[in-house]
Amino acid sequence: MRRAVSKPTRSIGIFGGTFDPPHFGHLIAAEHVRQHLGLDEVRLVVANDPWQKDGLRTITRAEDRVALVEAALLSNGVKTPPAPGPVVSRVELDAGGPSFTIDTLQTFRRAEPTAEWFIIVGADAAAGLDSWHRADELRQQAKVIVVNRPGPHGTDDPGIAPKGWQYETVPIPAIEISSTGIRDRVRLGHSVRFLTPDPVIALIEQLGIYRQEP
Ligand code: ATP
Ligand code: MG
Repeated sequence: MRRAVSKPTRSIGIFGGTFDPPHFGHLIAAEHVRQHLGLDEVRLVVANDPWQKDGLRTITRAEDRVALVEAALLSNGVKTPPAPGPVVSRVELDAGGPSFTIDTLQTFRRAEPTAEWFIIVGADAAAGLDSWHRADELRQQAKVIVVNRPGPHGTDDPGIAPKGWQYETVPIPAIEISSTGIRDRVRLGHSVRFLTPDPVIALIEQLGIYRQEP
């Protein structure tokens, strides 16, 4: 008689963002959370339409932001540690329209019902969780991982998810880099070297983005 083989549960981090552009702050957060929690995978989920930023500035085309994240993840051939790095997810582009984490979580869950899912956010995003779409449902369903973020965007104290959310904080090296800072520097003609991987800088130049007022 064949024995039923139960597959081990995979644990997967969902790290959503506008990634306009991605930078070392994002990559370090993804990598440290993966390592700290022993996750099998971290997905960088590119928002199709980051509705909470509507009207505040021009957002780069979603396809270009996916290409920027792919550029950020280009391997440089380093083999250690052997664990896989983050991967890019197009799920919110495929869904179209405004991007809601509750929909993304449910889409991923349908595809892999046995996996354990974690929503990764920086301290600034954690503080705003109650304003997310269908926050009540998300509050019930999501395990949130909050990483510290220093400077004007966040705080060194990561323990600030609002009341009622199941969350855990994961300490990461404090990285005071933001996409806003990178866009501002490009507009002013200042260097962004070492704030984001070189292939991202090359693609920013090729696309000619961030040169004008937002
Ligand atoms: P912008 O300045 O355009 O808002 P950003 O740098 O905040 O860009 P987002 O794409 O808005 O990047 O952020 C996606 C997620 O990454 C959020 O949860 C945010 O808190 C987190 N994050 C961004 N930068 C850092 C950082 N330097 N350290 C820790 N978390 C970060
Ligand atoms: Mg932000």
